[in-house]
Amino acid sequence: HLEVSQLYKQFSTQQGALVALKDVNLHVETGEFVCVVGASGSGKSTLLRLVAGLDLPTAGTITVDGQKVNGPGADRGMVFQRYTLYPWMTVQKNVEFGLKLQGVEPRKQRETASYYLEVVGLTQFAQALPKELSGGMKQRVAIARALASHPKILLLDEPFGALDVQTKERMQQFLLGLWKRTGISILMITHDVEEAIFLAQRIYVLTAHPGTVQRELQLDLPGDRNYHVRREPQFQA
Ligand code: ATP
Ligand code: MG
Repeated sequence: HLEVSQLYKQFSTQQGALVALKDVNLHVETGEFVCVVGASGSGKSTLLRLVAGLDLPTAGTITVDGQKVNGPGADRGMVFQRYTLYPWMTVQKNVEFGLKLQGVEPRKQRETASYYLEVVGLTQFAQALPKELSGGMKQRVAIARALASHPKILLLDEPFGALDVQTKERMQQFLLGLWKRTGISILMITHDVEEAIFLAQRIYVLTAHPGTVQRELQLDLPGDRNYHVRREPQFQA
């Protein structure tokens, strides 16, 4: 269970302080698939980086099963838009690497990596280098790597943004299947509303609007899917 409460993030820029996130509240129930959509610059990546613990909030709290997030941790698996695989390592070694950093013993690293490569259907490519794989395959390696540390929640930042339409559709089906099979909690960022509607049980919208006016918009969606409008980056003098 992920809980994001009154999250606020401000960056110092040459133009002054930039408020990237303000009063952002969201939650992901255990086993839930939630998407966050929003325009470019609305703070989506900032939000996910904070949840991943790659950056710290200016104010507000993030908890996973009641534990406050203070940095990266094995309870959250992160998948970035641009694969971020180590090009000089085999697929197998890429998946093992995070486990190695966590001090998992070598035999267990190998077994776990092999297991998750099977989960994403890439057993045959274990000894290949990332450059030998297609975009969709690379992203499946990144997902295997994120799953290998047995996270409570999978965090994905526009994971299919760099893929062609057909590969993207296949990867959406793959992710949906993976979620149904494993029951893992997912928080996924996308600027593609159609993708969010196809995948998510609930959708949050981060939105940009000027000044300090705040709105919260509820649209009627099938099932229990809800839209919440959040707010935009604001410059403060
Ligand atoms: P995109 O859809 O283009 O990926 P996004 O919704 O992910 O956009 P963010 O990358 O979170 O947007 O950026 C939100 C705002 O915060 C932007 O105005 C961006 O310029 C600013 N920003 C993000 N990271 C930093 C940083 N490290 N320093 C200064 N400003 C930043
Ligand atoms: Mg982004």
